[in-house]
Amino acid sequence: MAAKAALLMRVVSASVAVSNRACQIIRDVLKKGELGIVEKGKNDFQTEADRTAQRCIIASLHKQFPKVSIFGEEDDCNMNNLGLTSRLSPFGPCPNKLHTDLSPMALDPSEKISEDLFELGFSDEVLAHDCPEYLKDIKDEEIVIWVDPVDGTAEYTQGLLDHVTCLIGISARGHSVAGIINQPFYNYKAGPDAELGRCIWGIIGLGSFGFTRDVLPKDEFIVTTSRSHSDRLVTETVEACEPTSVVRVGGAGHKVLLLIEGKVHAYVFASKGCKKWDTCAPESVLAAVGGRLTDMHGIKMSYGAGVQRKNTGGILATVSDHDYIVNKVPEHVKEVFDKSVEAQDWPEFELARIQHMNNKDVDQGVKRKKTDTPDSDSSRSTKSDLLADETLDTKL
Ligand code: AMP
Ligand code: MG
Ligand code: MG
Repeated sequence: MAAKAALLMRVVSASVAVSNRACQIIRDVLKKGELGIVEKGKNDFQTEADRTAQRCIIASLHKQFPKVSIFGEEDDCNMNNLGLTSRLSPFGPCPNKLHTDLSPMALDPSEKISEDLFELGFSDEVLAHDCPEYLKDIKDEEIVIWVDPVDGTAEYTQGLLDHVTCLIGISARGHSVAGIINQPFYNYKAGPDAELGRCIWGIIGLGSFGFTRDVLPKDEFIVTTSRSHSDRLVTETVEACEPTSVVRVGGAGHKVLLLIEGKVHAYVFASKGCKKWDTCAPESVLAAVGGRLTDMHGIKMSYGAGVQRKNTGGILATVSDHDYIVNKVPEHVKEVFDKSVEAQDWPEFELARIQHMNNKDVDQGVKRKKTDTPDSDSSRSTKSDLLADETLDTKL
């Protein structure tokens, strides 16, 4: 089935399969208990799970799609094997030096990677779908893959396991077009025999799969934001959105899951800390149910190989009424954030994206569940205690 499918469908299908394998690695490292924590920067951690999961994902996808550019978060995770041998990434075009604040993950093709780290399978579930028309002719050189092997590493080390996701974002012609959000510990509170993990994936023009959508409570306005990278500006901007409650959780992937499942209305992060591998996959999964993920100015980001890694425009994401939240951001906050560089116009892509926005109330069997609350790992605060609570208690 894979051989006949369009390239983009094969890339998504292989990414789903390898994300499942990476999630098994993430679970195994935790079970073993030897996390190998390294502090990369202030409040920025890497563990053995980040390193091994990234090796698995990048080595596997590179083997299957050698001409596709791949960028991963952990640029020194190869240990003397996958090292940064040069700026000429064998994964594809070298990013524009001016924009490179982190080096591309480069794999020395001559180095041996342990055989059991390769996952070369495909997801039949993905291949059962037709490729959206506008993506049928996409070529290897037009694709860039953004990998965050473990999103929410801080929470992983603290036992807040619902916050952890493995993200593989796929862009074409600079636009995020498809994404995988794999949640390795989904169901982990359901008892020792529960099957762990779920894979949510989406393609703009096709839809998003692997979750159930609920209708948002109409009489509330719930905003989600960071729990481990908050500061005065983050808090002030959330407050300016006048939420009825705030859900502070880890991970960009996890917060977008809360959005698409109808548990929060908006994800607001007035910070330059998120990177392209944090947002590429979530953006597509969200857009494929009619939502939007932009910077603080409401501008959609570009995910081409030459873009800067940091999202210096901040993050705003919603399932609907995006302009409402863009307008709520105070002007003096907007002034702190860059206007993101946009990808080139692509009318057929834009049409597919807008069609999701028009269809969002009828697709995927939306159900109403008024009493639903965000997952129990969330530290949820009311508007009045938000400003007072900057220490962000951790609930284990
Ligand atoms: P959070 O919402 O704080 O969990 O952040 C979402 C993603 O962005 C995570 O992968 C974080 O590692 C990353 N991130 C956000 N802010 C920062 C920061 N100040 N430094 C490093 N990484 C950050
Ligand atoms: Mg991340
Ligand atoms: Mg990460």
